[in-house]
Amino acid sequence: MSISPRKHTQQVSVGNVKVGGGAPIVVQSMTNTDTADVAGSVQQIMELSTAGSELVRITVNTEEAAKAVPEIVNQLEQKGFSVPIIGDFHFNGHKLLEKYPDCAQALSKYRINPGNVGKGKARDPQFQQMIEFACKYNKPVRIGVNGGSLDQAVLTRLLDENRLLANPKELPAITREAIVLSALESAAKAEEIGLGKDKIILSCKISNVQELISIYEDLSNRCDYALHLGLTEAGMGSKGIVASSAALGVLMQQGIGDTIRISLTPEPGAARTKEVIVGQEILQTMGFRSFTPMVIACPGCGRTTSDYFQRLAQDIQAYLRDQMPVWKDKYKGVETMEVAVMGCVVNGPGESKNANIGISLPGSGESPVAPVFEDGVKTVTLKGDNIAGEFQELVERYIES
Ligand code: SF4
Repeated sequence: MSISPRKHTQQVSVGNVKVGGGAPIVVQSMTNTDTADVAGSVQQIMELSTAGSELVRITVNTEEAAKAVPEIVNQLEQKGFSVPIIGDFHFNGHKLLEKYPDCAQALSKYRINPGNVGKGKARDPQFQQMIEFACKYNKPVRIGVNGGSLDQAVLTRLLDENRLLANPKELPAITREAIVLSALESAAKAEEIGLGKDKIILSCKISNVQELISIYEDLSNRCDYALHLGLTEAGMGSKGIVASSAALGVLMQQGIGDTIRISLTPEPGAARTKEVIVGQEILQTMGFRSFTPMVIACPGCGRTTSDYFQRLAQDIQAYLRDQMPVWKDKYKGVETMEVAVMGCVVNGPGESKNANIGISLPGSGESPVAPVFEDGVKTVTLKGDNIAGEFQELVERYIES
């Protein structure tokens, strides 16, 4: 499937970041700190922002959390961080926004889950109240439907309408329809209340890849709201990364999606920033955006006698990523660069020539020399014990030049 043009959606401004309407696909993330812990939350938001998260969502679930929000935003500003902060509300958002106007004002967007904005008769007035706050404070909202907390009223209504259908296999299709309908009907209601289309972003998250693809294809066909993509509960480690990449990759290839969040379950001790890096890497490998120079490295095989080249590839990638906050304003286009680190002469020279700068390390049985190529031309051959250090210096020099 070749790449389709991006679907044109209504553009939404979230603080200083544009979402949809042809703007580059935005990478966002969410903290896992207790929002009432101002210092811890500020620290994590700064880490996420530095890693490249263009929007950061925080949970606003208690009075203490709502009270902390203005101070979090204030401290971020004082430290020079202007990343827009999104409040994630469930169950009691209407009360918190009413009681804490400074919180309502400090946030750049509210996330509302129509499945748990209020139960029964309370649902509509509470939803209305939240949208009225969004209108009052001139804030966009994300109407974020989630398969795990689907509005049961919509599902029950659809099941009632389809009660003559005898085949239980139709239940998944009806559930998918309920998810999409919950988002579309909530958005229509928000517009009726007075929220502009340019203030509405939709998402319909679910944890099954094929279902997610089919839901978003349908959603995208039926509206032109800006869409937030994410596979909810993607899981841990490689499973979460693969599932998110597969789902979001298929959708973005079809031109669907204006902002993405990769919901990885963090492994103990793992940095929260991983979800940002994975999001950037999906966009960069698919050719939608560039964030940091890419290292092209071979997998290694029996021709490599040690993990020397893997370590060099890792060190170079970490070094390039660390430098990007400084480089991105200084060296125009540096983020599109490719650096090849290859394990032997079989594919090494070819890949190195195709990259901006590349090295072909000596494999087993080869003479202990490592040719370096810059812009397709062999410029130097490194040898001795400090090939890694010398190559890093050459990469730095290449970038500076
Ligand atoms: Fe093996 Fe050489 Fe290919 Fe790397 S480039 S995978 S070391 S044959």
